[in-house]
Amino acid sequence: MKACIFHGPGDIRLESVPEPRPGPGELLMRMEAAGLCYSDIRVYKGEKKARIGVIPGHENVGIIMEIGEGVDGLEIGQRVVLCPIIACGRCFYCLRGLRNRCLKRVTMGYEENGGLAQYLLVPASIVSLGHVLPVPEGLPPEVATLTEPLACVLNSLEACRLQPGGSLLLLGAGPMGLLHLLLARTLGAATVIVSEVDEGRLRQAQRFGASLALNPARQEIQAAVLEASDGLGVDAAVVTTGVPSLLEPALAAVRRQGTVSLFAGFPPGSSIDLDPNTVHYNEIRLTGSQNATPDQYRRALQLLTVMPQAAEINTHRFPIDEGIKAYESRLGMDGLKSLVIF
Ligand SMILES: [Zn+2]
Ligand SMILES: [Zn+2]
Repeated sequence: MKACIFHGPGDIRLESVPEPRPGPGELLMRMEAAGLCYSDIRVYKGEKKARIGVIPGHENVGIIMEIGEGVDGLEIGQRVVLCPIIACGRCFYCLRGLRNRCLKRVTMGYEENGGLAQYLLVPASIVSLGHVLPVPEGLPPEVATLTEPLACVLNSLEACRLQPGGSLLLLGAGPMGLLHLLLARTLGAATVIVSEVDEGRLRQAQRFGASLALNPARQEIQAAVLEASDGLGVDAAVVTTGVPSLLEPALAAVRRQGTVSLFAGFPPGSSIDLDPNTVHYNEIRLTGSQNATPDQYRRALQLLTVMPQAAEINTHRFPIDEGIKAYESRLGMDGLKSLVIF
């Protein structure tokens, strides 16, 4: 079968590899679509680690083709999406349901093979943990690839304790910033302000219903946020792009007892100046979020059925033969999300 193989930073190759066969407890999936995440690009750039020789891809949708011995509750022909987290199930965090925080976590697409290949062997641990989720009837496979990113965004907004009627500032309107916007609207946020330097992305934020879409090159973020929030500041601000200096406007934009969340990953070795009194006197909650719990994956998949605009996040499609071009298009910041389709 054809597969993209990670040979090291800057080196992903399309190769022909043997088609896997499912052993006991495993599944074989015929891939339909795989989303390319900015974290895949960070691996490509050498900012994030992955195993040399791994098949990347953690936003995977496909059809079950073969079922290994001892698997129950799943059927051949079913369309499924995966929570790609392999967790031990027994550690402090797993026992709390926080498998994304598992002390022994490995992830498909980084340490274990992912979906940038015609067939994907689903490990027995993923099957037995219940991380194989049937796609609801009528949800297109391309949209279902957004389950993983949307689960991460759901985790982010829950870390912000976003409430219906609440207010939010999003710093960055890339695919993840825009998914924050769509989900915040779906969950009933009244005010969602988006700050982004790229005019095309700002226009997309407006089409997606941003209360205010501002370009920080032309407009001061704090002043604009205060004006749009009766002088209070917003309930929460999320840094959705890996620019460390954005912590500063985020802290300045939230109200007292507001939340600032660092959602994006940052280049290794990043550091920032922070006045601790800003956090102290204003009782600001400073947090981050990374990946999501299996429960958030399950709810994200259901949420996609009521978020028709989410389909617009996938702007580029490449066949597996042109898988490398999917990377290039994201590296070039061309459009929003790229898919590999089969
Ligand atoms: Zn992702
Ligand atoms: Zn664990």
